[in-house]
Amino acid sequence: MHQYLFPRSFKTNYLEADYGDGLYIYDKAGKKYLDGCSGALISNLGHRNKDIIAAVEKQFAKLEFAHPSRWRTDIAEEAAAAVAETAPGDLDNVWFVSGGSEAVETALKLARQYYVERDGEGSGKHVTIGRWNSYHGSTIGTMAVAGSMARRRMFLPLFKESPKIPSTYCYRCHFCKRYPQCGLLCAHALEEMIQIIGPQYISSFIAEPIVGSTAGAVVPPDEYWPMLREICDRYDILLIADEVMTGCGRTGKNFCVDHWNVVPDIIATAKGMAAGYMPTGGIIARNHLIEAIKNGSGAFMHGHTYNGNPMSAAAVAAVFRYMKEHKVVENAAKMGELLGAGLKKIGEGSAIIGEVRGKGLMWGFEVVKDKASKEPFEKKLAAANVVTRACIEEGLIIYPSSGQITGTGGDNFMIGPPLVITEPQVKELLEKLKAGIEKAEN
Ligand code: PMP
Repeated sequence: MHQYLFPRSFKTNYLEADYGDGLYIYDKAGKKYLDGCSGALISNLGHRNKDIIAAVEKQFAKLEFAHPSRWRTDIAEEAAAAVAETAPGDLDNVWFVSGGSEAVETALKLARQYYVERDGEGSGKHVTIGRWNSYHGSTIGTMAVAGSMARRRMFLPLFKESPKIPSTYCYRCHFCKRYPQCGLLCAHALEEMIQIIGPQYISSFIAEPIVGSTAGAVVPPDEYWPMLREICDRYDILLIADEVMTGCGRTGKNFCVDHWNVVPDIIATAKGMAAGYMPTGGIIARNHLIEAIKNGSGAFMHGHTYNGNPMSAAAVAAVFRYMKEHKVVENAAKMGELLGAGLKKIGEGSAIIGEVRGKGLMWGFEVVKDKASKEPFEKKLAAANVVTRACIEEGLIIYPSSGQITGTGGDNFMIGPPLVITEPQVKELLEKLKAGIEKAEN
C-alpha cells in the first residue's frame, strides 16, 4: 500500500503509536512502552496531562489565532511572564516561536541586530562562533553554526560557514589532555578563535550547556561556562545558550546555566517549554538588548506567523503553572540523582558501556567495543540499533543520538524520562534498560 506520509528514514521500522498515558505510550496492538526519553526530551509532563489539556481547550474555545503583526493577547503575556520568572538575571524579555530551530535563528538574528542598533549599520559584528559536534537545528542557518557532520554533509556548502571550536568532551578530549590538568583548553579555544578572527567582526558565540543529540548528554567541567561568560564579556561578544533541550527544568534547575550561576545574553529554548502539548519555542533576552532596539530602529526585524500564537501560549502558561505548583523541577533533581546512580551501576556492570554522564533528568551513555581503550565499534550505529531494538523489546524507548555517525566517539544514547517520573518508575526504567543492555550484549 502506498504511504502518502513519507518517513524520515526508509530504513527504520517505526512503532505505530495509538495513545499516551503518563509516562507511557501504547502502540496499536496495545503494547505499553515506557517513554524513557520523553520523545527527544520534550514530554516533560508525560502524556495526556489533564490540566494542560483543559487549559489548551479553554483557549481553543475562546480564540485560536490572532496575527502578531496586529494583536497582543493576555495569554501570550501570561506565558511570557511565567517563562521570564524562571530565567536567571535580567533575562526578562521573551519572544515565542514554533520550535527549537526557529528559536536559535531568532537568537542569531537578535545578536546581529543588537550591534547594528548599538554601533550603527556596518557595525561589522556579524560572525557567530559555534562548536564542532553540536546541534542547533535543522534549518540552513542553524546548521551553519553547528558542527554535526552527519547532519550537514548532504547540504554543504551552507550559506555561510561559521567558525567553530571543539566542544567539551572529557571522555575523549580533543586536546588529548586530562581534566583538570588540561587547564580547560576547550574554553581557551574560544579566546584563540576570537583573536584569529578579530572581535570587531564577532556578534555571538553559541553553545549547548550540555551537548545533547549529537553526543549523548556530555556535561562540561564546572569552570567551563563561567569562563565562556568571562571571555565573551572581555571581547564584547554576546553569549547564547542553546537550552532547547536542557531548559525548562530538564537538568534539575530551571535552566542548565543555573548550575554554574551564569547569565547568558540570550537563551534559546523549546521542547519542554510546552512539553509537547503545542509546537513551541522561544528566546529569552537580557534587557539591554531589547532596550537597544526600543531606543534605536524601534522594531525587531524578524517574525513568523505563529509568534506567540494563543494556542501555544496557553500550553506554555499551563505547563509553567503546573511545574511550579507540583514542584516538577525539584522532582527532576531528586529523581535525577536516583536515575544517575542506577545508570552508573548498570554502566559498571556492562562490558560495552564506556561512560555514563548527565545532570538532573538528562543522562547519556556511550557504548564501545573496548572499555579500556575506548575503541568504538567498527560499524557506526550498528551497536546503537541493537541496543535500541533490545530496549524496545523490553518496552522501553531510549534516544540514540544521531551525530555519532561521523563523529570520533562510540554510539551514544540519551535517557531523559518525563520530569514527573516517580521513584518506582525510575526503578522500572532501570530494570528494563538493564535487561535491554544484557540482551544486546549477548
Ligand atoms: N537545539 C538543540 C540543542 C536541540 O536539541 C534541538 C532539537 N533536537 C534544536 C535546537 C532544534 O529544535 P527543533 O527540532 O524544535 O527545531
